[in-house]
Amino acid sequence: MAKVYYTQDTNTELAKSLNIVVIGYGSQGHAHAQNLKDSGCEVRVALHPTSKSIAKAEADGLTVLSVEEATKWADVIMFCTPDVPMRGIYSDAVAPNLKPGTTLLFAHGFNVHYGFIQAPENVDIAMIAPKGPGHRLRAEYVRGAGMPALVAVQQDGTRQAKERALAYAWGIGCAQAGILETTFKEETETDLFGEQAVLCGGISELIKAGFETLVEAGYQPEAAYFECLHETKLIVDLLYEGGLSYMRYSISDTAEWGDYVAGRQVIGAESRAAMKGLLSDIQDGSFAKKWIEESENGAPTMKARRAEERAHQIETVGKELRGMMPFLAVKEVPSGS
Ligand code: NDP
Ligand code: MG
Repeated sequence: MAKVYYTQDTNTELAKSLNIVVIGYGSQGHAHAQNLKDSGCEVRVALHPTSKSIAKAEADGLTVLSVEEATKWADVIMFCTPDVPMRGIYSDAVAPNLKPGTTLLFAHGFNVHYGFIQAPENVDIAMIAPKGPGHRLRAEYVRGAGMPALVAVQQDGTRQAKERALAYAWGIGCAQAGILETTFKEETETDLFGEQAVLCGGISELIKAGFETLVEAGYQPEAAYFECLHETKLIVDLLYEGGLSYMRYSISDTAEWGDYVAGRQVIGAESRAAMKGLLSDIQDGSFAKKWIEESENGAPTMKARRAEERAHQIETVGKELRGMMPFLAVKEVPSGS
């Protein structure tokens, strides 16, 4: 069995004795900083001087420092900025102010695994990667539950890197759900692969392809939306609670039979070959290289694809139907995003 750490394996006194800095106050950063504060840890938020998040962090009762000042004060620094600008923030503001014995923590292995961030030998490089979006991390903590996380140590300059990382994970509320030991390589490559092939790319295209097939065949877009998008959640909830077998036990015999005969026709040899291709681009670094080029170029392709996807019929039909569901806390992309 893989190694999983729980609350009893964490040093909560150590967590409360360290000076902890969270750089960034976005999706992950706001959850880390607030959870650490509520766990009784000494935490500061680090932001650039013109950051629009300064007011937000201060309104949430947190102290904000510049990245430079915060680095001088810190025993532990967690990077919660987007992955692409992270290496610039490290080289410009963190590295020149870094004390020996500091623990650098990451919520995703991207920059370390691909070699974009390297640190002196007397510094730790470790990872605590919560397995879910930042807003859920905060919500789970507030309701007294936890979110699983991954821990990895790339460089152990203090000989305390894992103990510090686990203490941090306790502070953000991951220890009661379980902290699985991994490596930067495994976390980075499986995370990128999962979001591309299954969780984001795979599911979005599967839903759209099903919707388009029905609409092109003359069925009502509303019926296609309910079938291909809305019901996805009901099936995913069953998967989440009991795995594939429990989902198949809960659905009708006809649906179960359809699952077995149709699934491999939809996700056949071509899709599996495409998945292997994605994985190899992730492993050899070509995905990372292309994404950094795209992003540093102003993300023209990403912006064009985003606009195209937002204008898709499934989005307009869905918005109308969700508006009619009083039980739904309807979510929308904030204007300007
Ligand atoms: P966000 O995009 O939400 O981070 C935004 C924050 O970073 C803001 O406070 C922003 O400041 C700050 N920021 C952006 N650019 C700079 C800059 N150049 N200098 C200083 N601060 C900057 O990031 P996420 O929370 O999505 O991701 C953080 C890390 O967590 C990443 O490594 C990601 O891979 C990882 N992760 C994310 C998950 C998620 O749920 N989103 C899940 C698991 C891991 P301002 O407010 O001024 O714009
Ligand atoms: Mg992920």
